[in-house]
Amino acid sequence: MHKARVDIVIIGGGIAGLWTLARLRQAGYSALLFESEALGGVQTIASQGIIHGGAKYALTGNLTESARAIGDMPAVWRACLEGSGELDLSRVMVLSDHQYLWSSTGLVSRMAGFFASKAMRSRMTEVDVGQRPELFQHAEFIGSLYRLEEQVLDVSSLVAELHRQYGEFCYRVETDGLQFQAQADGVNLLRIPEQGLELEVQALVLTAGKGNADLLRLLGRDAPEMQLRPLHMVVAKGDLPPLYAHCLGSGSTPRITITSCETADSRMAWYLGGDLAESGIAHTPQQQIDKAHREINKLLPWVDLTAIEWSTLLIDRAEPKMPGSRRPDSVFLHSDRGVLTAWPTKLAFAPYLANEILQQLHQQGLSPGVSTKDDLELAHPEIALPPWEVKQDEA
Ligand SMILES: Cc1cc2nc3c(=O)[nH]c(=O)nc-3n(C[C@H](O)[C@H](O)[C@H](O)COP(=O)(O)OP(=O)(O)OC[C@H]3O[C@@H](n4cnc5c(N)ncnc54)[C@H](O)[C@@H]3O)c2cc1C
Repeated sequence: MHKARVDIVIIGGGIAGLWTLARLRQAGYSALLFESEALGGVQTIASQGIIHGGAKYALTGNLTESARAIGDMPAVWRACLEGSGELDLSRVMVLSDHQYLWSSTGLVSRMAGFFASKAMRSRMTEVDVGQRPELFQHAEFIGSLYRLEEQVLDVSSLVAELHRQYGEFCYRVETDGLQFQAQADGVNLLRIPEQGLELEVQALVLTAGKGNADLLRLLGRDAPEMQLRPLHMVVAKGDLPPLYAHCLGSGSTPRITITSCETADSRMAWYLGGDLAESGIAHTPQQQIDKAHREINKLLPWVDLTAIEWSTLLIDRAEPKMPGSRRPDSVFLHSDRGVLTAWPTKLAFAPYLANEILQQLHQQGLSPGVSTKDDLELAHPEIALPPWEVKQDEA
């Protein structure tokens, strides 16, 4: 068995693992990342790429704790995207610098309360009729349109850029290919028997999303507990205008959230989430597509849906267990005997989570430099495909 020592092994190459890897390498740690599928793997590549700044959390009209925590995130991302932040993401494609918000039910009071809050005021402006995008210039559109200064990213290009910078430290392992053994001094042994490899690891960071639960079991831990909150997303591909918008309904989740991305075959994919996805989890794909079709027909009746190719994606959001399965307020990090378990709960929170992980390692007195064994005899993972590029028979 070939033996080596590394400071930190991160398991799971979604945004949480990739951002953490980048920060740890910058800080001088010998950190490696193990991924069982493809980088950006599950939730990250399926996300809508919205860098939330709290608007979503504040739809009830009150600024909750989470809205405050997430309020700093857009500035952190913006600096990175401009090349002046903690990571250089200047090559990442920003699909839109803002999103639109409109109300289907004339819920003026809800919106008024929402906009009145100080944190929201700076980021939200009403759009004059003449300034509206073409889609909302239609004679049938009634009501107000607001512009929300929150960016939408092309997540594929984000994952590709992190792969370009840090891919050499990412390795592919089979989900059931890892064995763990805890030592009395808190150091963990990680074995990949198939490769004849044994790594002595000062800290393990679990950023495997839904996979964290199995990894914790493998490690013989029963905490922290995980919850899954599923979504049934819809993809509509065709001759559509780019759109980044939320339609507010009567609840605290937007009735529908639409983001867009150009496909490899030069069509436009609308990616539909919001309450449509939350309330559609029991639907068959066809029922969910029919619902999406009806919603667009109702909310944007002038959009031509005749030649649209539809598909759906049923996907779990993996989070720490919360009372009543409610949405967690912020990032989650749990540290116990050399194992850090993390769920960012939002793509936008990745920088915040990576900071928390760095702080936790400092607090534990774990400084960089135990070893620098970086070049393992393992394959590197590929980059995952976004939902609109996955062939339906592979989905
Ligand atoms: C449909 C949808 C839309 C969303 N939209 C947004 C949005 O617009 N804005 C936002 O801020 N957030 C959004 N989110 C939330 C956001 O996507 C997630 O919070 C975030 O991507 C989670 O990242 P992660 O790295 O923890 O998990 P993941 O992206 O799920 O990555 C986990 C990785 O671990 C790997 N893995 C699993 N088990 C193992 C194992 N045993 N060994 C090795 N690797 C393993 C997986 O293959 C995967 O690559 C959305 C989520 C969903 C589902």
